[in-house]
Amino acid sequence: MGEKRAGAKSGDADQRIGRRGLLIGGLVAAVGCAAVARRELGHLWWRLPGVEKPRVAGAVDFRGARWVAASPANYRRADRPDDYAIDRVVVHVTQGGFDSAVKAFQDPRHGAAAHYIVRKDGHVTQMIRELDVAFHAGNRSYNERSVGIEHEGFVDRASSFTDAMYAGSARLTAAICARYGIPVDRAHIIGHVEVPGTDHTDPGLHWDWPRYLRLVRAAGAASARPHATA
Ligand SMILES: [Zn+2]
Repeated sequence: MGEKRAGAKSGDADQRIGRRGLLIGGLVAAVGCAAVARRELGHLWWRLPGVEKPRVAGAVDFRGARWVAASPANYRRADRPDDYAIDRVVVHVTQGGFDSAVKAFQDPRHGAAAHYIVRKDGHVTQMIRELDVAFHAGNRSYNERSVGIEHEGFVDRASSFTDAMYAGSARLTAAICARYGIPVDRAHIIGHVEVPGTDHTDPGLHWDWPRYLRLVRAAGAASARPHATA
């Protein structure tokens, strides 16, 4: 999210048919014979990129996160990282309280939502699976390639960004980077403000990037140790 809401609607709406529709269409044309097509399609369907992996209701991608589903209008179902490689984490600030951010992401009229919201006390809520393309960056290719993390608070209030929030968010980002092999640096962990074409300013000048990256690296190193108990 961020300061400006007017531009929140992303360019994803025109992508609803998606790659799966195109791939299946092409496959049917290639196979030709209808009877064979039906049989083959039943078999091949599951091997195509863009076909959903089995999902368990309420499952989360980050251990300890609480699941609260966003409105399906605020994301696009996908099959990442098979259909879209994930190589960015985008840091946002909600410009409001935690509860109002959750409500906004549950509202189909909002047109935007991030995968995660980190509360002031460091608690992590997941609202969209990392498999799916969340409409958070206002840029289709950046939505497709990234995981979006909102932080409760305001860009112009340094007090929004607590120690607990930095720590909780850093553990989350470290886990995402480990999962997809994303380098822990400022080229790959970016603010919404750095998304091409954006008019948003979050996370703003009070967000302590050197500290955040230090914490992400430390969290990554801790969980990579052979006998880590975290
Ligand atoms: Zn934002």
